[in-house]
Amino acid sequence: MLTPSSNLETRAVHSGMTGVREQGSHVPAIDLSTTNPLGDVENGGLSYEELATGGRLTEGRSAVYQRLWQPGVARFETALADLEGASDAVAFASGMAALSAVLIAATTAGTPHVVAVRPLYGGTDHVLESGLLGTSVTWTDVAGVAAAIRPDTGLVVVETPANPTLELVDIRSVADAAGRVPLLVDNTFATPVLQRPIEHGATLVLHSATKYLGGHGDAMGGVVAGPAEWVERLRRVRALTGGLLHPMGAYLLHRGIRTLPIRVRAQQQTAAELATRLQAHPAVERVRYPGLPGQDPQGLLGRQLEGPGSIIALELGGGFDAACRFTEACSLVTHAVSLGGVDSLVQHPASLTHRPVAAEAKPDGNLVRLSIGLEHVDDLAADLLAALDAAWETDAAAGAYATSRTPGPMGS
Ligand code: PLP
Repeated sequence: MLTPSSNLETRAVHSGMTGVREQGSHVPAIDLSTTNPLGDVENGGLSYEELATGGRLTEGRSAVYQRLWQPGVARFETALADLEGASDAVAFASGMAALSAVLIAATTAGTPHVVAVRPLYGGTDHVLESGLLGTSVTWTDVAGVAAAIRPDTGLVVVETPANPTLELVDIRSVADAAGRVPLLVDNTFATPVLQRPIEHGATLVLHSATKYLGGHGDAMGGVVAGPAEWVERLRRVRALTGGLLHPMGAYLLHRGIRTLPIRVRAQQQTAAELATRLQAHPAVERVRYPGLPGQDPQGLLGRQLEGPGSIIALELGGGFDAACRFTEACSLVTHAVSLGGVDSLVQHPASLTHRPVAAEAKPDGNLVRLSIGLEHVDDLAADLLAALDAAWETDAAAGAYATSRTPGPMGS
């Protein structure tokens, strides 16, 4: 039985499990029903009305239809909300479906303007820059947030640590600058194990659950945690637009949360050691990792962020060519998009995740992003150092650092 004083590790294991034992089970059943018995007509109608307007399923009512309510999804939402210290949460088919729902919900009151701090995940940048959902955006840095707010601003968006440069944002400062405007923090990189943005003044917390929450690269999802009235609005958007999480995905994401603290901390320990080891290689111009000396000038580690996490960005002295050679020479570390799983991945943001980002805000071509997994640190070091050797030796043979390849624009 969880109590208000239960620790995060205990919550991760037991949150969202209410009633499972009483059902005679050890883990939640996966309910794949797309429709559910309604009882009498009046109960069916009232159940529909309550759920389609964003309410929770209550005693005696029907779950009606999977798009309106799904018990496994609700369990995952409860667990994530608990870890984030939020009243409630609402889950979606992907992180981008979650972001879209927030943008729709934030702008329905005639407030289509968004203030956003770069860098953000490339997909987030793209949806804001394109105005696809009827929003307009003012890009700014943290110091410019207050001045960028207008009467029609409906949302402020930040990501910290940011994808892919690992820059840190002081959430409290942004929340103060945002004032009455709700602040959305993308907490995908830190997870609630290392950072709980609501404690620092954020209104809403978003995750690409596809990453650390699931942790095994086999389930896609998104989730937003926040106050009950916001979650109600988001559930309504989900019911009307249909970006719901599949019950199988919800099961895997909920299961992933149970090992989240132990995975995040173990991956972080390996990443911290690798960051130092990789820094010593001559092909590396700079290692971006919040745990390295000088990379947290605002002193957010320990105050807002409990640890630097397990994403590392390397800037290679040999430019774009060297970044490509390094990425392609990794072997144990897979060249693949995504992050936060048990196995380590490498990708080149300027060519891939951040390809749609405007030239002035695109990550440098010499930057590669590593997501460090649960492999042994020595095996990862051997693979990464060999890949750096490959990048370095070719540079040296070519007379060093002439760059012939550049990341193409979107659509090329
Ligand atoms: N936010 C961050 C920080 C991400 O890295 C991603 C995906 O890489 C997203 C949001 C989007 O999530 P999804 O891919 O689950 O739609």
